[in-house]
Amino acid sequence: MSEKILLTADPGAGFRAHADELRAAVERVLTSGYYILGPEVEAFEAEFSAYQGGGHTVGVANGTEAIELALRAVGVRAGDGVATVANTVSATISAIEQIGARPVFVEIDSATMLMSPAALAETLTQSAVPVRAVVPVHLYGQPADLGAICAQAQARGIPVVEDCAQAHGARWAGRRVGTWGAAAAFSFYPTKNLGALGDGGAVFSGDAAVAERVRRLRQYGWRQRYLSEEPGRNSRLDELQAAILRVKLRYLDAENAHRARLAARYCAAARSLPGLVWPTVGTQAEHVWHQFVVRTQKRDALVEFLSARGIRAGVLYPVPAHRQPAYAQAISLPATERACAEVLSLPCHPGLTEVDVDRVLAALKEWPTP
Ligand SMILES: *Cc1c(COP(=O)(O)O)cnc(C)c1O
Repeated sequence: MSEKILLTADPGAGFRAHADELRAAVERVLTSGYYILGPEVEAFEAEFSAYQGGGHTVGVANGTEAIELALRAVGVRAGDGVATVANTVSATISAIEQIGARPVFVEIDSATMLMSPAALAETLTQSAVPVRAVVPVHLYGQPADLGAICAQAQARGIPVVEDCAQAHGARWAGRRVGTWGAAAAFSFYPTKNLGALGDGGAVFSGDAAVAERVRRLRQYGWRQRYLSEEPGRNSRLDELQAAILRVKLRYLDAENAHRARLAARYCAAARSLPGLVWPTVGTQAEHVWHQFVVRTQKRDALVEFLSARGIRAGVLYPVPAHRQPAYAQAISLPATERACAEVLSLPCHPGLTEVDVDRVLAALKEWPTP
């Protein structure tokens, strides 16, 4: 009997779960005659804003450009420092570099693997490059300590731009991520908790002026058609993706709850698997489990062991940003470097069942830890 391969993400399953509705949405767009920035984008922006509890959403082409445009809209310019973490995907850093700004890396909390507020305080007072924005990354679906981070940034008049690409629907202290900072960036890459069937992204802001500026920047700096008010770019969300996202948004909470059930099943087995370090969830955090991440010093061996059993564990991310050839900095971030060497993601997405989780747990129990 050949068992099914368990993947860390399965966008195809996400399509099949809502196939009829998605096909109908696509058909509606095909026959509408509107393909870019039309009624579907407008409706999605309104629905996503409502999901956030009010505010303004501006659909853009992808999550990387959402970060870039959000940073520009809060005033970041070439030469400015932008404080962020190094255990993130290259996209976060690439967005900063697109502006000609400089990433200033902040050490993480070694338990949650999220931006350490204490380290941020140190960075804000000591950085050689003046920091003009802070970008906490809600990594794996868990909010960073937004209370402490926003308080510190606010005390210095520095805007916070939240990287929410992995955390649609997560909350900190009962309030949705994306509503804490001056602006927030979302990605709708197909594997995200809210995923399109292609590229997509959005900037969210409670501040109408910030949102208005992103609206200009996403289309050549136009305030009105054919009149560029400031230098902008093309970063538009298309109608097909917006229509698809409107369907997917209706299932986001249910799918996040499904992820949480699978995560709870993993966590319930933690005591019987002492060879692994299990996730630490902050007391104020409502985690949406974009990734279920455990740690071991024998990470690469465990990835191989699971792979041989049809279980694909992901590694997000093996090389921290300050060790990437493109962004190398001669600094040392011991907690970040340790995390990158030890993390692996166990399969945890809405296309899986608790039986699948039990199969992963059974495999882990066979793993000969010393
Ligand atoms: C996916 C992701 C991005 C980039 O989103 P794209 O849509 O792929 O450009 C940025 N930051 C984080 C943390 C991500 O996971």
